[in-house]
Amino acid sequence: MQIKLNGCYAIYSWHWDIPEDEVCGICRVSFDGTCTTCKYPGDECPLVIGECQHAFHMHCIWKWLETETAKGLCPMCRQPFTMDKDKDVN
Ligand SMILES: [Zn+2]
Ligand SMILES: [Zn+2]
Ligand SMILES: [Zn+2]
Repeated sequence: MQIKLNGCYAIYSWHWDIPEDEVCGICRVSFDGTCTTCKYPGDECPLVIGECQHAFHMHCIWKWLETETAKGLCPMCRQPFTMDKDKDVN
């Protein structure tokens, strides 16, 4: 799949450094795609990986953590969700 942006630019050429079948635990969309509120993958819709090693779209986990039921917990393992800042997901 190709999307043309400022000439010929294959936006699907990059890949996050994670297993290919990995999907966001919140929106169930592949990490090669975006969260439900973004149109194009890339820096606009980055991944975050928690210390529990669960990964989500940044927007998805933000929205989740804002809900009352979240209580700051990872939706996958119910541990306090802390972003793993040492990890370079680029
Ligand atoms: Zn997501
Ligand atoms: Zn997004
Ligand atoms: Zn987790």
